[in-house]
Amino acid sequence: MKIVVLDGYTLNPGDLNWDGVKQFGELTVHDRTGFAPENVIKTIGDAEVIFTNKTPLPKAVLEKVPSVKYIGVLATGYNVVDTAAAKELGIKVTNIPTYGTTAVAQFSMALLLELCHHVGAHAEAVKNGDWTNCVDFCFWNYPLIELAGKNLGLIGFGRIGQATAKVAQAFGLNILAYDSYQNPALESDTCKYVSLDELLAQSDFISLHCPLMDSTMGIINKDTIARMKDGVMIINTSRGPLVVEQDLCDALNSGKVAGAAVDVVSAEPIAASNPLLQAKNCIITPHIAWAPKESRSRLMNIAADNLAAFIIGSPVNVVNP
Ligand code: NAD
Repeated sequence: MKIVVLDGYTLNPGDLNWDGVKQFGELTVHDRTGFAPENVIKTIGDAEVIFTNKTPLPKAVLEKVPSVKYIGVLATGYNVVDTAAAKELGIKVTNIPTYGTTAVAQFSMALLLELCHHVGAHAEAVKNGDWTNCVDFCFWNYPLIELAGKNLGLIGFGRIGQATAKVAQAFGLNILAYDSYQNPALESDTCKYVSLDELLAQSDFISLHCPLMDSTMGIINKDTIARMKDGVMIINTSRGPLVVEQDLCDALNSGKVAGAAVDVVSAEPIAASNPLLQAKNCIITPHIAWAPKESRSRLMNIAADNLAAFIIGSPVNVVNP
């Protein structure tokens, strides 16, 4: 059985191995595959099994690769594959539903703490001599913020939202959760479900943990921002298009939003023209919340388990049943 990995580099830049997948056939791993359909088709060749992370597999590609019986998406989100077309063509598509919950929650808190303390910028200032030349025993270049007693609004209270809440509660934050599905068992003295309006009005910090769908696209926009507290801070580790970036940029520059930290943007890698690159008090990281080695290793193991289950005829994590 021929197995082709179309874009393996971000999952395994060299610190993991593909043995779990390799045991099932003749494996070819491409670090990257150019997105042009003719290129993707050529790279797939006559493989029966393909793995993709971000390389698009639209109908026009799938129709031209009749050998393919299985697509393993090396991520949770599988919007890169036309799953309906795959189903028509008898191709099973699987994803990795959960592998990085704690890592993404941890990273959300890292961004929150960075907004509160600007550790990186202060450390840089010290290296640049600002402390050596300071007339006082200390200095700070940004307002420093204590979390205890403040409200953290979580838009999307699923796996990552709940894991973020646990850590945040340890810092003394009160959780305001907005989710289209509610589990009252998750509520406590320091965690309650609220409407989106309440969340916007009462949160000191807002962190996004909902999936990107028609109903959530652009959920942070000039109208929802107008309903937020002055000086609110916004964190996005979920998906870039949840935010109307020009609106967030305007709100940062006017001071309505005091700070933002985003790990994801509308187009990745980030375009030089992305307005957030020029916005005040905006921290941007290159989509790394998922990427600690522990999470990637878990992802790799689940990808191999998914293929094993497919081979024995009991596929799991199928997204186009
Ligand atoms: P999950 O499915 O466990 O939770 C998502 C929650 O959002 C669910 O509780 C769902 O009911 C809720 N939801 C759905 N539609 C909603 C709506 N319209 N309004 C409010 N809530 C809504 O998913 P998860 O594992 O917690 O992951 C959340 C998101 O994190 C993913 O969709 C993905 O975009 C993102 N993510 C980012 C990274 C990264 O590296 N930055 C890594 C993994 C996941």
